[in-house]
Amino acid sequence: VLFEEWHETGGAPRGYVGGAWIDADSAERFDVTDPATGETIATVPRMGRAETCRAVRAAEEAWVSWRTRPARERAAILLDWRDCVLAAEDSLAELMVREQGKPLREAVTEIRYAASFLEWFAEEAKRAYGETIPGDAAQTRVTVQRQPIGVGAAITPWNFPAAMVTRKAGPALAAGCTLVLKPAEQTPLSAIALVALAEQAGVPAGVLNLVTGDAADAPEIGAELTENEDVRKVSFTGSTEVGRLLMRQAATTVKSLSLELGGNAPFIVFDDADLVAAVDGLVQCKYRNAGQTCISANRVLVARSVYDQFIALLTDRVRELNVGSGLDDATDVGPLIDRPALTKVIEHVADAERRGAKVVLGGQPHELGGTFFQPTIVRDVPATAQAFHEETFGPVAFLHPFDDEDEAIRLANDTPYGLAAYFYAQDVDRVWRVSEGLESGMVGINQPMLSTATAPFGGVKQSGLGREGSRHGLDDWLEMKYICQVIK
Ligand code: ADP
Repeated sequence: VLFEEWHETGGAPRGYVGGAWIDADSAERFDVTDPATGETIATVPRMGRAETCRAVRAAEEAWVSWRTRPARERAAILLDWRDCVLAAEDSLAELMVREQGKPLREAVTEIRYAASFLEWFAEEAKRAYGETIPGDAAQTRVTVQRQPIGVGAAITPWNFPAAMVTRKAGPALAAGCTLVLKPAEQTPLSAIALVALAEQAGVPAGVLNLVTGDAADAPEIGAELTENEDVRKVSFTGSTEVGRLLMRQAATTVKSLSLELGGNAPFIVFDDADLVAAVDGLVQCKYRNAGQTCISANRVLVARSVYDQFIALLTDRVRELNVGSGLDDATDVGPLIDRPALTKVIEHVADAERRGAKVVLGGQPHELGGTFFQPTIVRDVPATAQAFHEETFGPVAFLHPFDDEDEAIRLANDTPYGLAAYFYAQDVDRVWRVSEGLESGMVGINQPMLSTATAPFGGVKQSGLGREGSRHGLDDWLEMKYICQVIK
């Protein structure tokens, strides 16, 4: 298939509009690089407003028949897409490692996770139930239908290049919406491959469109997607800064918005925690994808009475993590996505040290060079440190001791973000108190992994709007229509 060709030959992947594979009007392309080697692995079209506008038109035209297809038929196509994705699992995973850097086994896990959204929403498509409501007069009949919103725009990030595509395209297509997708400039290849597989699975022309662009093109593409009147919904996963901008732009045409923005997840270890499980959980939650997930633990708060013991256990585990190319079986931690990402991690460690924190392990760029960074543990990080206020997005655990439960909750909530929060404890009363006290859209109790198609993923406060996954993820692509009739 298409993506295997360019994977092998370094050929020319393209965008996809109205069922046709297209280049940019300007014929310009940008490089996609392998973060582990710095090598260019492909070039991709640099599109702008004009191509995006045509993609929206194609989506609008396709919507007319897609929305009226029985849900059962849309579901069948989504299941075929899932099958195509799973059949190509190995090539998709390898392609992802090449453009994104994560270890191959994490990439395989992501492809399966990506496929699970297609399966889940294929099933949910058939359950977009409406309501009947007793009318307020004898002759009044009140019903509520759930109808697809219309043409959607999906703007996705580089940290989960496949799953963020299906987490949006799955519910959109299931609901009967059509979509224009704009993947991150760092990782467009996984998105292109997924779209090629959607075509193979029989997704009709115009239902799923793909425009690609470099960082400099994103504002143009984003402006068209947010200002074009035919786009009814924008679903974005990325930085809070860009989310705010898109929200402002979308205000001009009052679009529906789903925003999955930054996080600043607290990871709290109470004195009654199973410390071995907590260490295990933190290693997964912090070092997976080299710490580049929006639900990565960002602030590790540990009860003072177990603080030293926890750090000792954690240090033993983190010392064992292997850094290297994602293609190497032994690798646990791959490179960071790019230079700015590395610079930010270096700055966060330096800032914490300046404020009196101590590096227990690592703390430096890795000897492999490039964008590799050592798995790092920093202790006694003051709550004023940069790392406690912004996402680090790197393999660094910043630790801070606390004295009691109230202090832990207060520290955890001391952030404008509220995506994920984790805590380890055994006491049942505490488990209720803390999970209810945390200001976040998701809470992991003795559980570091929250992402699944079956549950509503999303944040509160400045971490975003809306939910993805679960039946609520389908709701976000449906509009309610209240229908009132008077009978004789
Ligand atoms: P990150 O900091 O994780 O790279 P960004 O928010 O910059 O997150 O990127 C997430 C997605 O948003 C990417 O697809 C990127 O190209 C896109 N993007 C960045 N700037 C804009 C913009 N002004 N308008 C629309 N999309 C944008």
